[in-house]
Amino acid sequence: MSAVAASVQAPAAATTKPVLEAKDLQRHYRIGRGLFKPAAVLKAVAGASFTLTAGRTLAVVGESGCGKSTLARMVTMIERPTEGHLMIEGTDVVGCGKQELHALRPKVQMVFQDPYGSLNPRKQVGQILGEPLEINTNKSAKERIETARAMMARVGLRPEFYTRYPHMFSGGQRQRIAIARALILNPRIVVADEPVSALDVSIRAQVLNLLMDLQAEFNLAYLFISHDLSVVQHIADELMVMYLGRPVEQGPKQVIFDEPRHPYTQALLAATPSVDPKARSKRLTVKGELPSPINPPPGCAFHRRCPFATEICGQERPELRPFSGRMVACHHVEKTL
Ligand code: SF4
Repeated sequence: MSAVAASVQAPAAATTKPVLEAKDLQRHYRIGRGLFKPAAVLKAVAGASFTLTAGRTLAVVGESGCGKSTLARMVTMIERPTEGHLMIEGTDVVGCGKQELHALRPKVQMVFQDPYGSLNPRKQVGQILGEPLEINTNKSAKERIETARAMMARVGLRPEFYTRYPHMFSGGQRQRIAIARALILNPRIVVADEPVSALDVSIRAQVLNLLMDLQAEFNLAYLFISHDLSVVQHIADELMVMYLGRPVEQGPKQVIFDEPRHPYTQALLAATPSVDPKARSKRLTVKGELPSPINPPPGCAFHRRCPFATEICGQERPELRPFSGRMVACHHVEKTL
């Protein structure tokens, strides 16, 4: 078990209230291909459906380029979906006006991967935390200072550091500032995009424990983006494994960790040394590189790397279907054990 795994608490018990529903969410980009080549369409996310629930964590995993960060940008309303529906507390982000978007934005906040790049180096911590309150609330200057100092204390920072600048803090402390900024407006949903991967291994567990404590205290729904299954193993309730813009396996974390059934999930788990050996019993490795999302393979996008592939895999794209307590997109899921 890794140092992170050993010292992270179990996920908190939670309610089941859904705060976000995504249905067939898609995000496409038109890519110019040069003077004599027609524009291509890159389907960064090509159809993802999921819900986020208060007090629970959905982890999205996959290789770089699988669409997980694009998904995060849609959920945080930085980018609009090209197709599908994204309901946040009953309001569909797709097609809603500027005013409705403005009202929805404080409900969804983001913690970025890089605690060095995500904080303005010219602003004091107090300004960084006070700004969202100034823009989005009617709090007086005195109330804003009190709220910011209380939030600093809640994330484990000394309130007397209120006038310090980001460069005066360690990486872990900076990520605590970023978490405080994300929570200062009392959001319902926090999107955490690789929030501990830039941190020293010795402090990852502390930041993960903080995120889990805050989730329990404020009943937050988390969308947790990560490539690191040893981190996901401890913070997630639900798991969505993505490959080339589409979910390939989706369901309760423990069901998938105990018995991964999509060959890609099996390969990811096999490549994560710190994950429970039971989940890694199948030593599956995949060959080749991730194909280009601009020109994805026909049929199952994984078929050129999959040891179970047959003729049908190169011809027909498998749909997600229920199988043994989760959803899997694989023609031969019955044979992948
Ligand atoms: Fe492998 Fe075929 Fe399943 Fe795709 S559909 S994961 S290629 S067995």
